[in-house]
Amino acid sequence: MDLLYKSTRNDETVTASQAILQGLSADGGLFVPTTIPKLDLDIDQLAGMDYRETAYAVMSRFLTDFTGEELKACISRAYDDKFDTPEIAPLARVDDTYYLELFHGSTIAFKDMALSILPHLMTTAAKKNQVKNEIVILTATSGDTGKAALAGFADVPGTRILVFYPKDGVSPIQEKQMVTQKGENVSVVGIRGNFDDAQSGVKKIFGDKDLAREMAEKGFQFSSANSINIGRLVPQIVYYVYAYGKLYAKGEISRGEAMHVVVPTGNFGNILAAYYAKQMGLPIERLICASNDNKVLYDFFQSGRYDRNREFLLTSSPSMDILISSNLERLIYRIAGEDAYLDASFMRELSEKGAYEITPAMREKLSDFYGNYATEKEAADAIRKLYQSTGYVIDTHTAVASAVYGKFKEETGDGKKAVIASTASPFKFTRSVMEAMGEDCGGCTDFELADRLSALSGVAVPKAVEEIRSAPVLHDTVVDAADMKDAVKRFLQL
Ligand SMILES: *Cc1c(COP(=O)(O)O)cnc(C)c1O
Repeated sequence: MDLLYKSTRNDETVTASQAILQGLSADGGLFVPTTIPKLDLDIDQLAGMDYRETAYAVMSRFLTDFTGEELKACISRAYDDKFDTPEIAPLARVDDTYYLELFHGSTIAFKDMALSILPHLMTTAAKKNQVKNEIVILTATSGDTGKAALAGFADVPGTRILVFYPKDGVSPIQEKQMVTQKGENVSVVGIRGNFDDAQSGVKKIFGDKDLAREMAEKGFQFSSANSINIGRLVPQIVYYVYAYGKLYAKGEISRGEAMHVVVPTGNFGNILAAYYAKQMGLPIERLICASNDNKVLYDFFQSGRYDRNREFLLTSSPSMDILISSNLERLIYRIAGEDAYLDASFMRELSEKGAYEITPAMREKLSDFYGNYATEKEAADAIRKLYQSTGYVIDTHTAVASAVYGKFKEETGDGKKAVIASTASPFKFTRSVMEAMGEDCGGCTDFELADRLSALSGVAVPKAVEEIRSAPVLHDTVVDAADMKDAVKRFLQL
């Protein structure tokens, strides 16, 4: 029997491959598995598995309408030498804590873990559902996701990808990463406007019926690569299972011993994957949810009230600067007793008033989680202190998790093993990292800073940074936000 997926807002069910193709349910709900499959693996077996084998063990339990062969093909195309280590997600022991390095893929941030496999899952799903059209991915980005999606979809047969970014709203390195992207099927367009303009433009184009008809005539259809796609969530469960197996294999943890997992959180995708891993039976004690100064989630865990009506703060961990954590809806649905109508009513309140409050019964089901946050100073201190005491350098997002884990230990005195999800290479946020270490130099370029960081940390400058030093600009189109649809038509030659 296939494991089916249903919307968090109604009783529609679909197969895994249909959920991946659709992205979002028609009513705006997110697809969730109707049950969480059990891991039912012996720990000795798990400990012997490499990353790909672990990926197969986990993903085959969720994506049951994919054949074994199909899934293995997707996995081996994704987790190959695009990653700079065969371990794919190495676990670094630093003092008595473990950093799960999720940044060894092509854009040196954890989004690669899922976006390197999503294109293959999507094209396989298209074939399974007799979709003959080419899949067109349209993304608005504030920096990181755009590049990871471009890298994932570049030259994947049967797909095209167009990324819009705010011309003056991304960092110079982020822009350079995108405009140098190679691939026959990719395009990158800057827009005059901010991220919200880009985002609303994309939403409008997705909803444009005339365009959809024109596209269908020429053999194209849209799909979405954003983080609510179940095809991004399921691959993220893998590395928690993998980390536990590695801890056991190295003799760091004994059979059945529980670990904590600490996750620097924005959209709630990464930590939700850890929650699913726990539901599968992985011995995870607490899920420690770390926020930066945009601490909506911390306040939610404290009070049971989710309230986005507050000032949006720009921090040095920009990928966590989020006031609506979309994936939280999947947790709300679960603690609401899988009641789609109750979930839908909370989400309506969120969109109408910007806030909702869960019931006391629902709050009781949150005991797996611990939420806290780190200020800019606390995160910077975490980078500097860890570097000074161990020589290990972490990025600004991971630093938020590290600082929050420090607070957790202080508050609870709990000494269980903890795995911190390390979501970006320090070379991706070099300037902030070097400032935190007290090693910045005002006049240095980002590349000079990367060289200095390399000398200090003893870690080679990653290929992703080396490549863009000298890479030629391949995309230089800039349009008004109002002309985004024309850019799509030009790209598809409609
Ligand atoms: C996206 C991102 C996060 C946040 O992950 P969510 O799944 O959105 O919670 C944290 N750190 C980095 C570096 C990211 O790119």
